[in-house]
Amino acid sequence: MMKSMDGMIHRFRIGQIDCTALSDGYLVYAPPTFPRPADLLFLNAPKDRLDEMLREDGLDLQEWAEFRSGYTCLLIKTGEHVVLVDTGAGDLGPHTGRLLDSLALDGMSPEDVDSVLITHAHPDHLGGNADDQGRCRFPMAEWIISEREWDFWTGGQAERDLPEHGREVIIGCARRNLSVLEEHVRLVRGEEQILPGVAVIPAPGHTPGQSAVRVSSQGDTLYCVSDVVLHPLHVRRPRWVAVVDMLPTQTVATRESLLQRAAAEEALVMGFHFPFPGLGHLVPRGDGWDWVPLV
Ligand SMILES: [Zn+2]
Repeated sequence: MMKSMDGMIHRFRIGQIDCTALSDGYLVYAPPTFPRPADLLFLNAPKDRLDEMLREDGLDLQEWAEFRSGYTCLLIKTGEHVVLVDTGAGDLGPHTGRLLDSLALDGMSPEDVDSVLITHAHPDHLGGNADDQGRCRFPMAEWIISEREWDFWTGGQAERDLPEHGREVIIGCARRNLSVLEEHVRLVRGEEQILPGVAVIPAPGHTPGQSAVRVSSQGDTLYCVSDVVLHPLHVRRPRWVAVVDMLPTQTVATRESLLQRAAAEEALVMGFHFPFPGLGHLVPRGDGWDWVPLV
C-alpha cells in the first residue's frame, strides 16, 4: 500500500512494519551562502565527466546555479514502537520545520514517538529536537545517537575540526539541540539492533559518527542511509564527494560497503536529501549503481 499526501508524507511498508516518509520541507543551496551545486556536491569530480553525467539528467554544468534539497525524515511503526529517524531542520530556512505538520498528516502526535534516532548532528537532521523554550519536542522519547557522533560534537573536537565557514551556525545548532537530550540519550557503539526489525549501522565519513538505519521484516528491507549520499549522482559515482563530507576517504568506503550491502539484499534505499520521498532501488552499473526512484 502506497499513499502520498501533498508531497508531505508517503506511506509504505517493509514486511509487517509501517513506514512513513515525512517531509520537513526543503532548503535551496545557492551562492552566496553556499558554493555552486557542482562545487558543493562533487568537489573532486573531473569537470568533463561531471558535465557528461549531468547532461544525462538534463542539467547543464555551467547553468546549474542552485540545488533544491528535500529534507525527509522517516517514521517507523513496528506495531509496538514508533521510531522517528531525524527531526529535520527546525527554523534553519524559510521552508524548513514542517516535520510536525507532516507527522499530524500521518495521524500521529509527538507524544506517540518513543524513540528518536539522530543519524548525525548536522543542523538539517537535529534542528527539530528542541522547541523555542529549549524543551525536547518529543517528550516521551528515548534519543539514540552513536557514541562517536555524540563525543565529536560535545567533546570539543567539532570546534577544532570544522572549517570556519558556517562553523558558528553548525556548532550553535548542535549545542542547542544536543544539550536538551542529556538525560534521555542512549549512545550506541557499532552495529546494534535497537528494536526487533530496526538496526543502527555505523556509516562514518560525512560526519565522524554518522549512522544509517536498517529496517527489515519478512524478507523486505529498507536502508535509510541519511547523508551517505546527498544526490542521486553519488549513487552512480560513489567516489565523488561533497565539500561537506568531513572525511572524504571514509565517506567513499562507507558508501561502497553500505550500498553494496543494500544492493545485494535488493533493499529499498532512502536518501534524506533526495527528491521526496527519497526512496529508490539500486541497480549495479560499472563502479556504482543506477538510482531507480520508487515514485
Ligand atoms: Zn543533511
